[in-house]
Amino acid sequence: MPLRAKPRKHGLRTSVTLASALLPIVLGAGILYIQAERTLEQSTRQTAEEALRQFELMLDNTAQAARELLPLAGQSCIDVNLALREQVTRRPFVRSTNLVWDDSIYCSSLFGDYHEKITPGDYVGGRLLLMKGNPVTPNTALLVYRISDGKRGAMSTLDGYHLSNVLRLIGRQTLLALHVGPNWLTADGQFHEGETPDFPVAQIQLDSSRYAFGVEAGFPEGETWRYMSSEYPALFSLLIFFGAVAGFIGHVLQKRSSSPTHEMKRALEALEFVPYFQAVVHGDSKKVSGVEVLMRWNHPTEGLVRPDLFIPFAEHSGLIVPMTRSLMQQTAALLAPLSASFEEPFHIGINITAQHCQSLELIEDCRAFLDGFAPGSVHLILELTERELIESTAITQQLFDQLHGLGVKLAIDDFGTGHSSLGYLRQFSVDFLKIDQSFVAMIGIDTLSSHILDTIIELAHKLGLAMVAEGVETQAQSEYLTDHNVNFLQGYLYGRPMPGADFISALSGH
Ligand code: C2E
Ligand code: CA
Ligand code: CA
Repeated sequence: MPLRAKPRKHGLRTSVTLASALLPIVLGAGILYIQAERTLEQSTRQTAEEALRQFELMLDNTAQAARELLPLAGQSCIDVNLALREQVTRRPFVRSTNLVWDDSIYCSSLFGDYHEKITPGDYVGGRLLLMKGNPVTPNTALLVYRISDGKRGAMSTLDGYHLSNVLRLIGRQTLLALHVGPNWLTADGQFHEGETPDFPVAQIQLDSSRYAFGVEAGFPEGETWRYMSSEYPALFSLLIFFGAVAGFIGHVLQKRSSSPTHEMKRALEALEFVPYFQAVVHGDSKKVSGVEVLMRWNHPTEGLVRPDLFIPFAEHSGLIVPMTRSLMQQTAALLAPLSASFEEPFHIGINITAQHCQSLELIEDCRAFLDGFAPGSVHLILELTERELIESTAITQQLFDQLHGLGVKLAIDDFGTGHSSLGYLRQFSVDFLKIDQSFVAMIGIDTLSSHILDTIIELAHKLGLAMVAEGVETQAQSEYLTDHNVNFLQGYLYGRPMPGADFISALSGH
């Protein structure tokens, strides 16, 4: 059945709702993540640039000391020792100075006469060496600056304490390291050898263009999320809000698209509600006197759907009015071309509901329907079921008066199953009574039902109303009804409801 009170695939609907809620959250979080990464990258770049600048300034100062001492190299240590110490005193970052002759330190600001061989290859670019410590302070890193000119050489040493201080102060939030060749120093003053450290988030490496060192900056694992949660709480709340709104909209849209009303609107536009035709025959001659138009839903996946499964929904949603209009238009399009060949007025029964009686729209629908046929070639009969009888109001009176004016006739359907009063039958100028098939089915079986049937037939005769017996399936029923002067008969015995093309060919064969 195409219409269900309970939605199908509840799990799927929940997943779609969840997906629509998550989509803006995930997208938004993705955008915020990229934004946070860019901010962090900018931050590490600025930090690295600042560190680089500071180290270059410190090295300028240190290199100056070495440059000033270089011309003294070769002189005896006693003569130049004071000059070496003066540089240490005057220059804020210089810890010690040394003079070199032929790749050997021969004079030191700290020890005076001192002898130690050096290997120029240890110095990156021949100039810089980052050391773990020296015999005086084995655990404090040192940065040694060296210059040479022939056999002469001078060296000045920068204390690692100043270096790690810069790393600590500049890189407060950032991980920062200074590297010179294969050696590097971190903000905690630790000396490391080998691969430069891996800072997983927003890593950047800048090399000095003036000295042989570089700076590495970055953040530890998970910093992007930490940054987002501390900097974007308001945006996150907004994302959650958008997610909730999107989820809600997704939920409502799904509910709408799977609602019976929505599904039926779609079907109406797709012309899936089609007329089936069941012949009505004269009681005496059994010649076709007309037809009852019965609605079917030609559903794309469910196949042909019986009207009692969807008409209640159509009535409930108010769609029954446009659905009936569509049915009448299709019927007129099929039968009107034959109307010139009808020998007597052909009866066309259309089922209506109480909904149709609440406005005057039906008048226009009937007028348009009748306009399609040759004048006087058809009788349009509106069938209103007895269980649904309508109250007499100014609108209904106007409606039925105008319908009668157009020549439209009124039949009470399923007669005998409701409780219409005689006054009612007169008030609405009823023309036909359609005897409910349950009474016909009881002919020859149930005497009480047969009595009721006889009473109905008698009543109709007395009121001068024409009768149609529905659900005639057997010859015995047919004979009984004919014997009792029932004017018209309808049932499987004379023909089942069938599509328009089949009905037309059956009619021409008749
Ligand atoms: P109804 O107006 O009383 O229509 C007669 C029903 O009896 C039809 O069922 C028809 O197929 C069935 N029928 C005809 N001859 C026999 C027979 O010999 N034996 C048996 N057992 N059944 C027979 P259907 O087409 O399934 O329609 C059911 C009901 O749905 C209709 O009852 C009518 O109340 C409603 N309906 C159908 N089409 C429309 C429509 O276009 N508008 C409205 N408002 N209701 C409709
Ligand atoms: Ca009917
Ligand atoms: Ca009926």
